[in-house]
Amino acid sequence: AQVEQAEFVKSSVETEQCPSDGLPEFALVGRSNVGKSSLLNSLVRRKKLALTSKKPGKTQCINHFRINDSWHLVDLPGYGYAAAPHEVRTDWAKFTKDYFLNRPTLVSVFLLIDASIPAKKIDLEYASWLGQNKIPMTLVFTKCDKRKKKKNGGKRPEENLQNFLELIQKFFQTAPPWIMTSSVTNQGRDEILLHMSQLRNY
Ligand code: GDP
Repeated sequence: AQVEQAEFVKSSVETEQCPSDGLPEFALVGRSNVGKSSLLNSLVRRKKLALTSKKPGKTQCINHFRINDSWHLVDLPGYGYAAAPHEVRTDWAKFTKDYFLNRPTLVSVFLLIDASIPAKKIDLEYASWLGQNKIPMTLVFTKCDKRKKKKNGGKRPEENLQNFLELIQKFFQTAPPWIMTSSVTNQGRDEILLHMSQLRNY
């Protein structure tokens, strides 16, 4: 399930522009600063690949990467960026939701949640929207290497995970699969790749 080959394919500003080769794909999405680029780089073991999508003008696009010539990793713009003007946020919601609802080759959305801070309302809303619309989802907890530093510092990743899973139960009959990761230690990298390969062969 390892990544032997990874190449940037294209940036699309709408679903219709996405590659039409029919390859199965997995979309990474999460709040700005959740660690999405770091995870993408850790998955493909290349430091510069995801930088393509960090270039000005590319961050608001759907970015496709072709892996091993047989499937796509898709980098979606981060949500919940506080400084973004209202219309940018509304556009973001419209265009990613359109992608989720109208992309038949999308196998599963990998929703990234920062495990080093308490669960955010926007993440729950996002997860519940995906659930209500029956979009297959995998939860990926990021920054699991971070530990409580100060007396009243953040919660340990394990506590935050429990917290989020409890909150999310409200929206689902069965909790979605979840994976603990860290781009610092590469925890969870093989698990994600294995999970993706199992989903492709299902
Ligand atoms: P993005 O905005 O979601 O693409 O997030 P980035 O990948 O740019 O990461 C945001 C910040 O979190 C950066 O300062 C990273 O160094 C840090 N970060 C990302 N992943 C991890 C992780 O697994 N562990 C720790 N400790 N920090 C991380």
